[in-house]
Amino acid sequence: MPSVWRGDPLWLADVLRAEGLDVVELTGWRRRGHGVFSDMRGVMVHHTGSNSATAQSIAAGRPDLPGPLSQLHIARDGTVTVVAAGVAWHAGVGMYPWLPANMGNWHTIGIECANTGTSPSAPHRRNWPDAQYSALVNSCAALCRRLGQPAARTIGHKEYAGRAQGKWDPGAIDMDMLRRDIADRIGTAPSPPTPRPGVPVGYYADVLLYRGSTGPQVAELQRRLKYAYSAYAGDLDIDGVFGPETEAAVREFQRRTAGLRIDGIVGPATAAALRLRLVSSPD
Ligand SMILES: [Zn+2]
Repeated sequence: MPSVWRGDPLWLADVLRAEGLDVVELTGWRRRGHGVFSDMRGVMVHHTGSNSATAQSIAAGRPDLPGPLSQLHIARDGTVTVVAAGVAWHAGVGMYPWLPANMGNWHTIGIECANTGTSPSAPHRRNWPDAQYSALVNSCAALCRRLGQPAARTIGHKEYAGRAQGKWDPGAIDMDMLRRDIADRIGTAPSPPTPRPGVPVGYYADVLLYRGSTGPQVAELQRRLKYAYSAYAGDLDIDGVFGPETEAAVREFQRRTAGLRIDGIVGPATAAALRLRLVSSPD
């Protein structure tokens, strides 16, 4: 199980979408950043200071601080915009037990939520619309799951930089309550994505997949394993070929799921437990 991921998170949009979130990809996000990530350890949450701050403003930065200012922006309606895959200037100086001092930018994914923060002493979720709060919870859960980390690896800017910079963001967020909600979400399998019109999808029922199988249904299996069960399938190639790695990931899924036979074969029971979608063949 990887505890550390190397390289930029080019998987951001896919992982968030697989969580069922409304995702917008800001043009150029894959190449935007102040450098390349080498060791991602967790997630840091912020408020922008204004209810109307846009994802574009996070990409552009401020006169005193060039953008990107974070990797993700969450609007008040719950829309999650992927702003950058590279390192962003969001953390500044500060410290936290699993971070090297003042190095938060190089080790955490930053989330800027369009919110005034209300005040440093405001009660939990005051002025946080349900859509924005649940998008935050689900984004953090998706990222922690992808990083192979628990909910404890989501921290607030105020926890890292409160003493060093007097930061109090995210305001009106009790970080322990947020982490509890993230932990609950991590323990729940993501809901299946909403089928797009015109693309026939459904629950897989009558096709067996096993070592040697090939095609789009195998690719869909690999995608499902890789993005929803990345703790042990994160390195899986989505190549549509059911090889030894795919079989090992299927066995691991079966081992961790009560009631499944551990045979490395995807039949109806395993497919249902995986919430695998049926992909119609192009012909
Ligand atoms: Zn902040």
